[in-house]
Amino acid sequence: MNWQGKRVTVAGLGVSGIPAARVLHGLGAVVTVVNDGDDERARAQAADLAALGVTVRLGDGATLPEGTELVVTAPGWRPDKPLFTAAAAAGVEIWGDVELAWRLRGPGAAPWLAVTGTNGKTTTVRMLASILEAAGLRTAAVGNIGVSLLDAVTGDETYDVLAVELSSYQLHWAPSVRAHSAVVLNLAPDHLDWHGSMEAYAADKGRVYEGNSVACVYNAADPVTEDLVREADVVEGCRAIGFTLGPPAPSQLGVVDGLLVDRAFIENRRAQAKELAEVSDVDPPAPHNIANALAAAALARAFGVEPEAVRNGLRAFRPDPHRIEHVADVAGVAYVDDSKATNTHAAEASLAAYDPVVWIAGGLAKGAAFDELVAASAKRLRGVVLIGADRGLIREALARHAPEVPVVDLERTDTGAMSAAVREAARLAQPGDTVLMAPACASMDMFANYNKRGEAFADAVSALAAEHA
Ligand code: ADP
Repeated sequence: MNWQGKRVTVAGLGVSGIPAARVLHGLGAVVTVVNDGDDERARAQAADLAALGVTVRLGDGATLPEGTELVVTAPGWRPDKPLFTAAAAAGVEIWGDVELAWRLRGPGAAPWLAVTGTNGKTTTVRMLASILEAAGLRTAAVGNIGVSLLDAVTGDETYDVLAVELSSYQLHWAPSVRAHSAVVLNLAPDHLDWHGSMEAYAADKGRVYEGNSVACVYNAADPVTEDLVREADVVEGCRAIGFTLGPPAPSQLGVVDGLLVDRAFIENRRAQAKELAEVSDVDPPAPHNIANALAAAALARAFGVEPEAVRNGLRAFRPDPHRIEHVADVAGVAYVDDSKATNTHAAEASLAAYDPVVWIAGGLAKGAAFDELVAASAKRLRGVVLIGADRGLIREALARHAPEVPVVDLERTDTGAMSAAVREAARLAQPGDTVLMAPACASMDMFANYNKRGEAFADAVSALAAEHA
């Protein structure tokens, strides 16, 4: 592609927009960045780009600059924005950050092993990278995980293969990406306010399978993921590979007698299965995390990695903070931080691992309903402490499905509310219980992000522990 003089509009100053503008400018494109916000930070970033010769328009992300030949958007921008309507009307293509990275890959570039799903993406991508490293491959975990794909693709480092986390937003804006192999880990309602409907959300996730050449990996317990494989157009010979927490059928990976086994990438899969690792090699060995490990193993095996490297890679893997992280024991009660459980599907998976449990929940619901989660978890709940803007929705679901469970409704939404929540939870808990902060909601009503929410929880637990010391 000849970028010289091409007029590109980059939508959004931010983690993806700034590198995109720099790279495109470096290739000779005439770049204009448009941004809704016009605060001090945006002005400083704009000044840096302007010094390079990039035009930046602050305070108006809605109007399409005259003469635009291509729009490159930050993944989070909603598809119904006027900027995109105008681009579509003018026949101008719209690429996301991932599409741009894909198109800028050099000849002989590393193939992508892609991971998407409602929950477990980051964990699975990190497990996958750990396995690929254990196999001696040059690799990196990139994408939605906080490491820019664009940097990985245009930087000096060379890779044999990339472990790529893709969000539903990124997939929406990435029509031509073709992974070597890919997985949709699971599918539950999330971000529906952005996508418009569950069907549209599923269709965007399903794009990850388009054009796969070796394996489309699906979750046997989540039939929608298998449907998405069936609907995808793939390269001739590409296989559908399932993962299951039970014994695997042929062309699946699964669990037998405490072992993770492969019945897909072996010679005689009708009659045999090959041991990959032990369940205890996975940290933590909670059921949903075993599923993540099986998905990572399937992608690595599709790439030709030996069983030994799967075991070593899983053993070397350690989970990121705020994902079912045991913070402390105070007065015989365990305190667990799962701040990353920002939707009901994630919270349901982590609540299932504890019994009895005092649950701290609430925040921004993003259009979710809580009935299924509460009904599935009601039997294990010792009590519930509700925080945040949309706590009323959870309170109503509790009244419907768990009327006997004590609920403390904290009206405060200031940052100090977390220490009040931990105190209330401590009051409800009995020795042997777990207090689990798995809010099933986004954090932005009270905190900058889920990390800050997790840190506030850990601080409050430390304060509690100090009083008991
Ligand atoms: P993502 O990158 O998709 O947000 P993470 O690996 O960061 O996923 O995990 C987010 C949260 O989702 C975890 O804290 C845990 O509560 C939950 N989770 C992880 N894996 C799964 C899974 N396979 N199924 C359901 N919930 C999961």
